[in-house]
Parts: sequence; C-alpha cells; structure tokens
Amino acid sequence: MAPNSIPTQSSLTAPEIERRLHHILPRVQKPGRYTGGELNQVVKDWDATSLRAALVFPDVYDLGMSNLGVAILYDLLNRQPDMLAERVYAPWPDMDAALRAAGLPLFGLETKHPLQAFDLIGVSLPYETLYTNVLTVLDLGGVPLRAVERGQGDPLVIAGGHAAFNPEPMSDFIDAFVIGEGEDVLLEIARLVLEWKASGGPRPSLLRDLARLRGVYVPSLYRVAYAPDGTPDRIEPAAPEARLPVLKRIVPRLPPPLTRLVVPYIDVTHNRIPVEIQRGCTRGCRFCQAGMITRPVRERPVAEIVDAIEQGLAHTGYEEVGLLSLSSSDYDEILELVRQVSARFAGRHLNINLPSLRIESFSVELMDLLQGEASRSGFTLAPEAATERMREIINKPVSTEQVLATAREIYRRGWHLIKLYFMIGHPSETLEDVQAIADLSKAVLAEGRAVIGPRASVHVGVSTFIPKPHTPFQWVPCDTLESIRAKQTLLKQQLRGPGLKLSWTQPEETQLEAWLSRGDRRLGAVILEAWRRGARFDAWQEHFNHAAWMQAFEATGLDPAFYTHRERPIDETLPWDVIDAGVHKSFLTEDYLWSLQGRTRVDCRERCFACGILPKFAALRREHPGEGWECPEVRSPARQAAAAAVEAP
Ligand code: SF4
Repeated sequence: MAPNSIPTQSSLTAPEIERRLHHILPRVQKPGRYTGGELNQVVKDWDATSLRAALVFPDVYDLGMSNLGVAILYDLLNRQPDMLAERVYAPWPDMDAALRAAGLPLFGLETKHPLQAFDLIGVSLPYETLYTNVLTVLDLGGVPLRAVERGQGDPLVIAGGHAAFNPEPMSDFIDAFVIGEGEDVLLEIARLVLEWKASGGPRPSLLRDLARLRGVYVPSLYRVAYAPDGTPDRIEPAAPEARLPVLKRIVPRLPPPLTRLVVPYIDVTHNRIPVEIQRGCTRGCRFCQAGMITRPVRERPVAEIVDAIEQGLAHTGYEEVGLLSLSSSDYDEILELVRQVSARFAGRHLNINLPSLRIESFSVELMDLLQGEASRSGFTLAPEAATERMREIINKPVSTEQVLATAREIYRRGWHLIKLYFMIGHPSETLEDVQAIADLSKAVLAEGRAVIGPRASVHVGVSTFIPKPHTPFQWVPCDTLESIRAKQTLLKQQLRGPGLKLSWTQPEETQLEAWLSRGDRRLGAVILEAWRRGARFDAWQEHFNHAAWMQAFEATGLDPAFYTHRERPIDETLPWDVIDAGVHKSFLTEDYLWSLQGRTRVDCRERCFACGILPKFAALRREHPGEGWECPEVRSPARQAAAAAVEAP
C-alpha cells in the first residue's frame, strides 16, 4: 500500500467528509475539482435509493468532465428511479497527498459518500496510461486493489472503454469488464447487482451471473497457460458461464443525445456540448484501433442532431458545440447537416467544431459554411504519413497533390494556421519516409505563403505508431527507442524556422502505452509494482516516471521488449484473443498481408469486405432495419443461419 493509505472500511460519514473537506480545499489547486454542486448535477437521496454507482474517470476532473461516455452513463443510471450515479475523478497529486494526510477517503462528488460505500464502481478506460490512476482511486477510496482481496461487503468494480478490448493487463484489479458499448449492458449489470444485494448471495455467484451477460468478461473465470517461451499457450474458461471469446456489445441505434450536461465551475478541456453524429468508421485505416472496434457505422438523423444542439444550448449556456465522429466527412448527410446547423444558429455567436474531416476541398467548404464569421483558429489535417507509398501501407490513400490543394483552399478561405498530424514508426518506414514529413510540411507552408504571405503557419504534430490489438497491424513490432529518437532528431533539425512548429511524443511514453496495450495478465504485477514505486498520471509528461516502470519490470522478472519489440507470428495466441471485437481474425490477417503488398481497400460502404460484423450482429440488424446502419442488409438464408449460430446464447 502507498504511504498513509486510507483504511479499507472508512467509518467516516458523508457529512463528516464534507466538513473536513472544507479544511483542506483552500490548500489545493483548483478546489472546484472536488466540490461538486455544478449546474445539472443529479443528487439523489442516498438512503432511499437501492443501487448506488460511482462512475470513475481515472484522470483529473478537468479532463474527465469532457468525457462523453461517462456523461452518457451518468444520465442513464440517474434516470432509473431505484438507482443513483455519482462522479469520481482522480485527485491531482496535491489533493491525493492532502486526503491521505487528513485520513479522508475519496468520495462521490454529489453526496460525498466514500467510494467504498457504493455498490458498483464503473471505471472508464479510454486509454491505457490511466491504469496506475485506477489503483490510486481504489486505494484512496478504501477499496481493496486486487479483485481476489474483495469480499462480500466490497463494491463490484467493473471497467469499460476502448482499452478494455485488451483487458488482460488490468485483470487483477477489475471484477468484470464491459466489452463494447455500455448503454444497454450497464443497466443489465446494475439490475443483477440489485438482485444479488437483495438475495444476499455469495460474491462468486454474482461473478458467474455477470459472465452470462453478453459482452461481459469476468477474468477470474478464465485460466491462461503460457508456453516455455513465455507466449500465451491456451486461454480456457474455468466456469461453464464463461464464454470464449466474449463478443462485444453494440447498441442497434444511437440512444438520444445528451443535452443536460453537467456544467463545471472551472475551465475544463472542452467547454462545449458534444453531440455524437455517428458511431463507427468504414475507412479501414490499418493503424486505427477505434476504426476497427467501433464497427458498424450507425448514424444519427440530422433533425435529432439539430434539436440536440438547441436543447443543449438552453440547458447549459455553452457557446461551443462539437459534432463528434471518427470521420465526419463520411456522415451520409453531412452537407445537409452543415446547411441546417449554419442556418438555424446563424447570428448566435456559436462556435461549431466538425473534427476528423477528410483531406479534400469539400471539407474546407463545409467548415467555411459552418463557421460563418467565427474566428478561424486553425484547420486540422491528418495525413498520418507523408509519402503515398506509406499512406497505401496504412490504408489512408490520399495523393500529395490533394494534400497541397486542400491546404491552398484552407489558406484561401481565411485560415492562417494548418495543423498537420503524422505518425512515425509505421511498419516498413524508412528515414526517407520521415524526411518526407518535413518536406510535405514545408510544402504546405509554401502554399500558405503564396496565398497569404508571412502570416501563414504550420504546426506539425508527430506521434509514434503503436500496433494496437484488434487491428491489422497487431502482429508487428514497435519501433525501438533508438530508431524513434533518430527519426525525431531528423524532424527537429528539419522543421525549424518562421511559420513552423513541431511537437512530438516522448519515446518512453509511447513505450509504456505499447506495453500496457499489448500485454497479458502478467502485466498486472508490473502495474502494481510501478504504482507502489510512484507511477501516477502516466499520461502527463510532467508526472511520467519511466524509472518506476523499468524497476517494476525488473522486480517482476518480465522483459519489456517481449511485449513491444517482437514480431508475433500470425498463429500465436494473443492475450486479447479472449475478446471478439466483431471483426474476424481472418479479415485482419488478410488486411495485414494486403498492407505488405501496398494494397488498399476502399470505404466499405462502397463495397462490403465481409469483415465479420454482419454475421455476428445479423439478428440485431434484422430487428432494426434502416436505423442508420451502413452495413448492407442480411438477406442470404445461409448467412442468416450462420449468424444465428454465432448469436446463440
Ligand atoms: S460488414 Fe462490410 S460494410 Fe459492415 S463494417 Fe464490415 S466490411 Fe464494412
């Protein structure tokens, strides 16, 4: 346990916690992170509510308050008359120390009950570098860190989010993972917990009942055996209820958009109304985990989006709206949406963001229409790679001429700044491909200079590729630290001078994300050890403690290079094979082989590549015809029979 750990069974009442909190808040940064009481928060009667859930975003409040997933689940649970949900964020290190010094447990923001007093703790895991913060939150909340240490009176700890698609590294600490979209399954879990509470049954029986739910993975009900070379050999269910693999959950149509958002008192990452316009992506970029695991595409009707903006403005007073999607240009009625939004909200000084646009002049027209007279801070383009050869390998085919023509159009329409996003470390990348990043960035700047003169500028963001689970690149090794440093040095030398700015990710931080995303369940010991040695807020450069992680690997006898720098044979059992993201492994394999040949795939709305989504969700598709699904209808009887076999409970 960390120094000054909170006793497991905190005896402090909520009023007492609130009273003592007033003494420590004046001494920490941004006390508004810990007070609750914001506009639109939901406070329910603790004693009169049967199920109490804490929704944890394991990063600081400022970031967590901008997370749409938590906001959706908060609204969903609080709409149930017999349930309540409260928010919990990771306290910043000053507050962590202050809570420990005062012997105060971490609490739900709404009523200040300690985390240990909740029935259900739902942890959001959108990215892997939050893992040590999960341990901090549990420890400060008085909840035993490891699932095996939790007893009858302890909360059930569940987790979900994109990182949960490889749940194994966190399997020591989480009782059950939700795989995929949480809207339906969270309510099923909450109902089970309620029934279990009422029955007084033993905790193991709750875990087995949870494993019966579709989309729920209970790690303690599986055994993993390792081969002498350390690779996973077999993954086996250890109980009849445990499915293998666990197929992700999806909702057939997007639930109504959230409009009554909690409005923070303090400045947070995004002070805006987020409206999801579509879920999923049909582009098939091979590096993109989100594009693979969120299939199929489901769209929200234009009228629903426009209405949500209107209601959201009325309920929050925000002046900014984000129309969210993995690839906004691919929303079928994007032009109609933009026309309606710009007509309806003209003259209201509303800033409307439409992120993730394709690199084409049409995108610039859309933004031009949408932003009207609003100030044009910067236009983002994400070619991801700078040579056409490399863009074919990653399946983001766009010609260099198209990039330059789009840049010309952006400057011509009044933007001064273009933000370009690239990745280094793609499979088969050479130094020439990296040099091309500098050349293309300078060429974009030259276009700007030609159009608007010295006011033109280019910001270049360069991250490092990590081969993520459930993508066609899941077998390839990561770039070594030496290679990443050499590539970054080249870019730093090349991208200097007026109008150019370069930012990059630290190679050690990339390495950590790679270990955690590609690891097996033995990584749990490393995470715990690193946390004990001081690893916290790993996603924050100023807090990242590389030494703690290296010491943790050494202490546990695991080789970090085994997880990151080894090409995995196609037939190797992967730790995340226990999860079925809906896309066939054979599709990923074929796509990987295509990448080696530089073959690309078109948008799968133009041609279905039978990735696996259709047979796995065919019944859902049939039950909800239309509904904005972009995959073709399932008609063939043979396919329907195959789908029925896959979907059988
Ligand atoms: S089933 Fe076909 S259309 Fe649907 S996501 Fe897969 S490839 Fe695309």
